[in-house]
Amino acid sequence: MKLSSVPTASAPRYRAITRRNVAETALWARMSAGQRRAVEVVSQVLPFRTNEYVLEALVDADRLPEDPMFQLTVPQPGMLSAGDFDTVDGALRAGESSEALAAKVGAIRRKLNPHPAGQMSLNVPRLEGRALEGMQHKYAQTLLYFPRQGQTCHAYCTFCFRWAQFVGMEGLKFAARESSDLVRYLGAHPEISDLLITGGDPLVMRTPLLERHLAPVLEADLPGLQNIRFGTKSVAYWPHRFVSDPDADDLLRLFERIIAQGRHVAVMAHYNHPVELSTPIAREAVRRIRNTGAQIRMQSPLIRRVNDDPALWSELWRTGVGLGMVPYYMFVERDTGPRGYFELPLIRAWEIFGEAYAGVSGLARTVRGPSMSATPGKVLIDGVATVAGRRVFCLQLLQAREGGAVRRPFFARFDPQATWFDQLEPAFAEDAEFFARLEAHSAGAPRRLALV
Ligand SMILES: *Cc1c(COP(=O)(O)O)cnc(C)c1O
Ligand code: SF4
Repeated sequence: MKLSSVPTASAPRYRAITRRNVAETALWARMSAGQRRAVEVVSQVLPFRTNEYVLEALVDADRLPEDPMFQLTVPQPGMLSAGDFDTVDGALRAGESSEALAAKVGAIRRKLNPHPAGQMSLNVPRLEGRALEGMQHKYAQTLLYFPRQGQTCHAYCTFCFRWAQFVGMEGLKFAARESSDLVRYLGAHPEISDLLITGGDPLVMRTPLLERHLAPVLEADLPGLQNIRFGTKSVAYWPHRFVSDPDADDLLRLFERIIAQGRHVAVMAHYNHPVELSTPIAREAVRRIRNTGAQIRMQSPLIRRVNDDPALWSELWRTGVGLGMVPYYMFVERDTGPRGYFELPLIRAWEIFGEAYAGVSGLARTVRGPSMSATPGKVLIDGVATVAGRRVFCLQLLQAREGGAVRRPFFARFDPQATWFDQLEPAFAEDAEFFARLEAHSAGAPRRLALV
């Protein structure tokens, strides 16, 4: 049963639920002592933030702890190793000083690999020799922009690869205060057709603030800039943002203004599970966004315990298409944070994608995956085959730091245990050359490709 069967106010105001107030929620009363302890312990290390809509309308309280939305948003014991869990648990029980606890927590966090895919050092755009904060330019046509006040979310996903930023480990390097550099950079790079405003979740920002970031871009003469994209999970975690929040209508008017300028607005909507489309307000949010002329594209990582079932993906894409959305990417879970808890072998990811894809009509087969956002680019697992007597993964890059590498088929030795690109080894001599070429284009990356 969803706890929201209990009536609530029709236009609830957003309130973050964290370790400090989670004990006030209806779901807490349904959690076991062990589950509560896990929240207290794990949230010392990994960020925990959710809200009442997620806990009451999306989590099924009768299915704890396996419920996918519970796994997705509430810290679980297995997200830390048993040793790390005991370290933190012990420190809390012993009432250690906050400095002693912080030192232990810091050591555990550093072990959890906080630099996924070289994003911190690579892909930072430069203007007149100066590194620009809060932007990334990895693929020629698309610039990422991280507005400073958008570096949080309406709820945090337990698997999130940006966890290190949310707990303050990375400072605010991914954060732009204002957009004057953005406009100048776009002016100097007419090859950029897409501006992808992302976070965290940029739509946690109130509309006037978002407008302040965007206004200089919309006022500038940038004929090459065609698509304004918003990376967001609000459609799933807080659809009220588009329906009943005080500035919901203003946000939709902003979309309309951009569209009236002759540009495309693409909402890059992060959905993990079909239950996120099951509530009336979730569907109303989609309908209202679509009414502005904006298009919604659906993307999501594949996460063990949350959505590792092809039937769920078929349902998600089928429902999404029915609501007028476009399935876009299925990602492989990144190699950071509590990866051991959530990751799946690449072969399993490929099987799940294939089965899910087979279960939907061509209108949903716009989706591509499973794709790894690795240092050299977005690596698509096309399948498993036997080539020249050798079992191989067939791969291609959907996006590449080096544009010339896109869509060229290449092969890696089949490895049934591999969960990420850096565990793969080139299958043939020419693949070794190709891997080396990708490696050369990722110089300075903290995580190297495995080469034979
Ligand atoms: C995925 C991604 C993009 C957008 O790629 P599209 O294929 O255009 O959706 C842009 N920059 C980075 C760093 C990305 O990971
Ligand atoms: S909504 Fe996106 S950025 Fe926010 S926690 Fe989830 S995956 Fe991370």
